[in-house]
Amino acid sequence: MLSRAGICAVIVNTCAVTAEAERQCGQAVRKIARENPGAIIFVTGCAATRNPGLFEKIPDVVVIPNEKKMELRAYLDKISQKNRGNSCPEINGNFDTENKLSKKFIQIQNGCNHDCTYCVTRLLRGPAVSFEYDEILANVRAATAAGFGEIVLTGVDAASYLHIENGRPFLISDLCQRLLCDAPEMERLRLSSVDPAVPAIRNIIEIMKTERRFMPHLHLSMQSGSDTILRAMRRRHTAEMVRDLVRLADGKVSFSWDIICGFPGETDELFNETLELARELKPIRIHAFPFSPRPGTVAAEMPNQIPRNTARARVREITAVAAENLHEFMQNKVGNVCRVLVESDNIARTPDDIPVKIAGAAIPPRTICDIKITGATDDMLLGINI
Ligand code: SF4
Repeated sequence: MLSRAGICAVIVNTCAVTAEAERQCGQAVRKIARENPGAIIFVTGCAATRNPGLFEKIPDVVVIPNEKKMELRAYLDKISQKNRGNSCPEINGNFDTENKLSKKFIQIQNGCNHDCTYCVTRLLRGPAVSFEYDEILANVRAATAAGFGEIVLTGVDAASYLHIENGRPFLISDLCQRLLCDAPEMERLRLSSVDPAVPAIRNIIEIMKTERRFMPHLHLSMQSGSDTILRAMRRRHTAEMVRDLVRLADGKVSFSWDIICGFPGETDELFNETLELARELKPIRIHAFPFSPRPGTVAAEMPNQIPRNTARARVREITAVAAENLHEFMQNKVGNVCRVLVESDNIARTPDDIPVKIAGAAIPPRTICDIKITGATDDMLLGINI
């Protein structure tokens, strides 16, 4: 939420990865408009770019497509001047949350050069652009100076981060290593979702195994455990490549996955390959969602579309496997000492990004401290401050 010079504006960044995500964005913007009459609502991001009509009919909404997103400040100034002197309406809703968070998300690149057959994001975000190292370092330093306990590097295809430096490639692993060196005040560095096909992920795992400040957890954009389906998706990894990453991690780095259930042509047998791989490699979390045919993508026109109910049942099935994996992983942590980042209400995050409830006196958010793990519930560890 921005409030300056007699104008109040809410900025909503939307997502179009599935039809459901798009629907929820529409719902959220309608709610904001209802609760904040008089405020200007800037709606940007992928859903606003793909389906502007969904938002344009909502009162006081200004739709800004992705390609104009970086000019948002100019839009705001323009409207601000026009309305200077107007009284500022009260903004309802908990929008100003970022400064209360313990983690700071810093974008390192945008766009993607690949062509997964189900993906609408690359159509909306355009080709890959990696941001300058100095700009990223400045953002990291500003975030640590502001007290954020953890930096999370994000991007549409963050693993493919690339610059050419003195004639040599400067990759995501080089970026992380240099940030750890140039920003010694940064206590925790984490990567958001990464593509397992990118060779630099092997270097990332090696750095994580030795660098205490680099959080040893990778969220892989896995999508399926069946090579047949991965080929149909035009993903660039195989199940064996992911096995190899897990072998390299040697139990020192944990993994979670994104999985699409019910991709066209995914028979029960092919889905079982994904289930079996999840049982074998034991990702501790799986963000599973039913395949959503996005207009304009190759997969939306593929034969052998899977009924929605089947896809949903598969989501439940693989989510249950992930729950078993997480349970086993958490049980193995009981008795260990763990360095955690406190978020709020004495709930902290372990290096594997698992929530842990700390008993006893209140600990201020953003504190980094050692705790002893004393137990586990279904989805959370329990601990005491030591
Ligand atoms: S890697 Fe594939 S799924 Fe990810 S943004 Fe690029 S095209 Fe889309």
